[in-house]
Amino acid sequence: MTAFSLSPEAAAPRLHVARRTLERLRGVPALAARYPYHLDADSLEGLAQLPPLARDDLNTALAHLEPAADRSATWLFQSGGSTGAPKVGYAPTGFYMAGVHAHWQPLDRTDVFVNAWGAGRMWGAHFLAAALADLSGCRIIALGSVTKDEYGPWLEFLAARRVTAIGGTPSVLRLWFAHARAAGLRLPSLRKVLWLGEAWQPRLDDDLAAVAPEARRWGMFGSTETWVVGTNTPHCRADTFHPLPHQLVHTGEDGLLDFTALDPAVLNPVLRYRTGDAGELTACPCGRPEPAMRVLGRRDSVVQVRGLGLDVDELVARAERAPGVARAQVVLTERGGRATGLELLVVAAGPAPAPDLERLRTELFTATITLGTAFQHDPGSFRVRPVDELVSNGRTGKTAALIVREES
Ligand SMILES: [Zn+2]
Repeated sequence: MTAFSLSPEAAAPRLHVARRTLERLRGVPALAARYPYHLDADSLEGLAQLPPLARDDLNTALAHLEPAADRSATWLFQSGGSTGAPKVGYAPTGFYMAGVHAHWQPLDRTDVFVNAWGAGRMWGAHFLAAALADLSGCRIIALGSVTKDEYGPWLEFLAARRVTAIGGTPSVLRLWFAHARAAGLRLPSLRKVLWLGEAWQPRLDDDLAAVAPEARRWGMFGSTETWVVGTNTPHCRADTFHPLPHQLVHTGEDGLLDFTALDPAVLNPVLRYRTGDAGELTACPCGRPEPAMRVLGRRDSVVQVRGLGLDVDELVARAERAPGVARAQVVLTERGGRATGLELLVVAAGPAPAPDLERLRTELFTATITLGTAFQHDPGSFRVRPVDELVSNGRTGKTAALIVREES
């Protein structure tokens, strides 16, 4: 079973963009052999026959093509996560947000919007959010990222400015609202929380209920390669997004999502590009009739620990359900490819009640068969450790569920 977000009729007038991208990819010597001439992008059936692109393929193509915008500056952004060498993606000024704003307007002229995505370091989220806010005509407070000691004073400033909207990566938003909650600060005028970059975190709902009870979430899904693919509203499920008409979403038999850009201004050759996210096309409870994209998370949530598959997301979720725990993260230490230890880092929710870490450790060890089996002869190699902050990417503010460290 293979499915597209657009019907053949809706896709047809836009497929010339995919055809052009195919020709560009055929012109890349390292990729040409993957696109023999019997393959085409003239129809959805044709597209489904094309090989998917991975991030490395796209960077190979970009290194050869070095695209440039027709009518604006060309911006270079760093693509890829917290591991590996920096890779570069391209976008024109505006970052395709006019096409997003035409279909999704979370902000209006009356809003006071705090842009809390980190700016600089070649990370795109701050700039695309700024472009959206510009189109909405609201007031903008370009805050960027702040350090641990700055949350209190800034929160007081934002409350005094009666901000109505804030946007950021969910990991960063959690820091903002957890700080506000712990300090007893309220943002009663906050109505809108824009997010992009990670899955929504249900614990944000708890913090918002205390800090900003009128606030509702407005989500975007995308990547530095595809830019914004889809959006949702407070009436949608947090994991479900409505693809924009200039973004073609496809799910194949393996359940992985791939994306094809149909915006004529696109610079990155995004043709069946895979972000690594699994997902499905489904109905959204908000009632919009066209197929929505449900994102089921990364397929790489399962990591091999001493020959056994450990579901990191499940372990983290289990830990974060424990009383007094705000956030958790798994740090796996390896030597020569073998796991020597596994540490669960835990951030407490507030000054009190402190989480009972020994009890949590025992519970996780007993309930997670992979842990109990992998470390049955050296149970002390599984530890739970309290920390002030998790290990995060300083550039994007994203916090991965798993960190792998190689011991020397
Ligand atoms: Zn919806």
